[in-house]
Amino acid sequence: MGLMEVVHYGDPILRKKCKPVTDFEKLPRLIEDMFDTMYEENGIGLAANQVGIDLNLFIIDISDFEKEGESIHVFINGEILDTSGESWFEEGCLSIPDVRLDVKRPETITFKYQDESGDEHTEEISGLLARAIQHEIDHLNGVFIVDRVTATTKMTVNKTLKSIEIDAVSKAKYRKAFVL
Ligand SMILES: [Zn+2]
Repeated sequence: MGLMEVVHYGDPILRKKCKPVTDFEKLPRLIEDMFDTMYEENGIGLAANQVGIDLNLFIIDISDFEKEGESIHVFINGEILDTSGESWFEEGCLSIPDVRLDVKRPETITFKYQDESGDEHTEEISGLLARAIQHEIDHLNGVFIVDRVTATTKMTVNKTLKSIEIDAVSKAKYRKAFVL
């Protein structure tokens, strides 16, 4: 088991658009570590840049909520091709501890992605899975739930956000120094 450190709001890697995955050979180990980390943190989704990895990859496990069908997923190089409908749902985020916000998103998406073997799939997805996918795709494009709410709503969490940011920025600097 390999636990990774979840990076928080304020860390520059969470504002970047992630690179596409081209080498699928080394993914199994990373994916395993990401699942261990997500379970440890009690999350239902985790994007690679949330553990400091600049790759277009995320995982989801909604088996606590959806009893039917496949509920554990690995999505690589995902792209939302089309959307329809809308719904509101309260979302949390492992990179913004203690903040929960009502976010409006499309209810249904047409989603193209590659699996761990590199095979391409296109599916129409609704409900919690569509919600989670949109949250993680946002991460891979450098977008947070706080960017999806009005300025007034964002104000209500500004103080928490600021303290998370200060901490994350100093951790990111330390990590960079360490790599040298
Ligand atoms: Zn998140």
